[in-house]
Amino acid sequence: MKKVIMKFGGTSVATGEKIKNLARLVADYARQDYTIAIVVSALDGITEQLIEATEKAEKGKADFIHLFKQQILERHFKAAKVAIENKKILKEIQDVIQAIVDELEKVLIGICYLKELTPKSSDYVLSFGERLAAPIVYGALRDVRLKTQYFSGKEAGIVTDSNFGEASPLMDVTTHQLKERIEPLLEDRIIPVVTGFIAATQEGVITTLGRGGSDQTGTILGAALAADEIWIWTDVDGLMTADPRIVPNAKLLHELSYQEAAEMAIFGAKAMHPKALEPAVKSEIPVRIRNVTNPGSPGTLIWKNHVADKAQVVKAVALIGDVAMINVTGSGMVGVPGSYAKILEVLGKNSINVMMISTAVSEANISFIIRRNLLERALSTLEIALLGKNAFTQVSYEDDVCVIATMGAQMKGTKGVASRIFTAVAKRGINVRMIAQGSSELNISFVVKEEDGEETVRAIHEEFELYEN
Ligand code: ADP
Ligand code: ASP
Ligand code: MG
Repeated sequence: MKKVIMKFGGTSVATGEKIKNLARLVADYARQDYTIAIVVSALDGITEQLIEATEKAEKGKADFIHLFKQQILERHFKAAKVAIENKKILKEIQDVIQAIVDELEKVLIGICYLKELTPKSSDYVLSFGERLAAPIVYGALRDVRLKTQYFSGKEAGIVTDSNFGEASPLMDVTTHQLKERIEPLLEDRIIPVVTGFIAATQEGVITTLGRGGSDQTGTILGAALAADEIWIWTDVDGLMTADPRIVPNAKLLHELSYQEAAEMAIFGAKAMHPKALEPAVKSEIPVRIRNVTNPGSPGTLIWKNHVADKAQVVKAVALIGDVAMINVTGSGMVGVPGSYAKILEVLGKNSINVMMISTAVSEANISFIIRRNLLERALSTLEIALLGKNAFTQVSYEDDVCVIATMGAQMKGTKGVASRIFTAVAKRGINVRMIAQGSSELNISFVVKEEDGEETVRAIHEEFELYEN
C-alpha cells in the first residue's frame, strides 16, 4: 500500500468538468494500491477575486458586494452541478455553498462598515476560496462512490504562527493533530479532502500560508502523515526549463534536487510555492509534479538524491512579473554607516518584502525590487521615514519592470556564464536595468522593462539551448 498526498491546484478545479475529471483520477488510484489524502486550492481566479472584493469593501463599496456574492455563488453552484450527478448529494453541497457564501457576505459588509482591512480580516476573507472548493470536490468523490470527508485546514489541525498573510506552520502541534484527526480516516480508506492554503493560530484565528500556499499544505500533510510521496497535480507536465506559455518548446525537467526546485519556485516557476518544499525536505519525502490532463507523463521528481548534471550550467529561466523597482539616491549615503540598513529596516517593519537588492559601488544608490501592489505603501513609508533627512535626496521608482531569473547548480562556479547571459540579451537590443546577487549560489537575476520580459526569457533559453530537440 502506497500512501500519497495529492494536491490539486486552482487550475485543476477551475470548472465542474475539471472537478469531475479529478474525481475519476482519484478513483483510479483508490482502486489500486493507494491510500490517498487530498489537498485542494480555490477554483482558479477566486483568490484574486476575493482580494479585489476586500479592496472594494475597504473603500465602502456596498453595491459591489451584492454583485460579487451573486457571481461567486453562481460559479460554485455551476461547478457543483456539473461535477456532481447524484441529486441528493448535489442538494447537500449546494446548501453548504449557500451557507458559506452568506457568511462571506457578512464579513465583507463588516469590512465595508468599518472601512478597515487588517491582515487578519484579509486572511479570513481569502480563506473562503478554498472553503468553497473542498465541499464540491468532496461531493464529486462521493458521486463516484468513494468514501470521503472534508476539512478546513483549521479543522484538520494545521496550526501556524500569527504572521497573517504569510503564516508558517508549527510542525510539532500540527503533526500531532493531523495524526489524531486525519490518520484514522486513511486507515479506514476514507479519503480526507483538506483545504489548501488556510490554517489557524493556536487561538483558532484563521491564517493563510501565502499566495500559492496550497502546495505547502500538501507537504505539511505529507510530512505529518509520513506519506511515501507527495503529488502536486497541475496543468503542465512538471517543472520545465521555462514557462511553456512564453517558450512553447520548453523542456520538461525529469529530476531535480530539493534545492534546485526551491530555487525555481522562489523565482517564479508558478508550478510550485517557494516554501512548499520545506516540510518534505525535512522528512525526505519525494515530491512529484504531475499533469492532470496527461497522467501518463511521469512528471518532475524532486528529491534529495538527485545529482545535478554538471554539463548543464543554466537549467531554467523564469520571468517574475508584477514587481516594481525603487531607487534611493543621495550623496549623503556615501560612507554613512547603516544607511542601507535603515531603509531596509523601515520597509521590513511595514511588512514590505524586498525581493532583490543592488547597491552601486559609489554607495550613493540603492535599488530594490518589491511586489508592485506594495509600491504605494513602500513609497509613502520611505517618504515618512526619510522626511527632512537631506542625506537621502531622492526616491524614484519604475513600475513597468520585471525580474528575469536564471537558475542552475553549476552557475556561479563556471566562468563566463554571466557574460553569455548578458551578451545574449544585449544582442536583442534589450537594456538591463539592474543586476542582483540572487538569494543563493544557484542563480543570476536581473531586471528589464516589462515589455522586454518574454523576449529576454526566449533569448536565454536559446543561448543555452534549453529547448526540446
Ligand atoms: P496550480 O493552479 O496548479 O497551482 P499554477 O498556475 O500555480 O497552477 O502553476 C502552473 C503554471 O505555472 C503553468 O500553467 C505554467 O504556465 C506556469 N509556469 C511558469 N513557469 C513554469 C515552469 N518553469 N515550469 C512549469 N510551469 C511553469
Ligand atoms: N488559492 C491560493 C492562491 O491562489 C492558494 C493556492 O492556490 O495555492 O494563492
Ligand atoms: Mg499554484
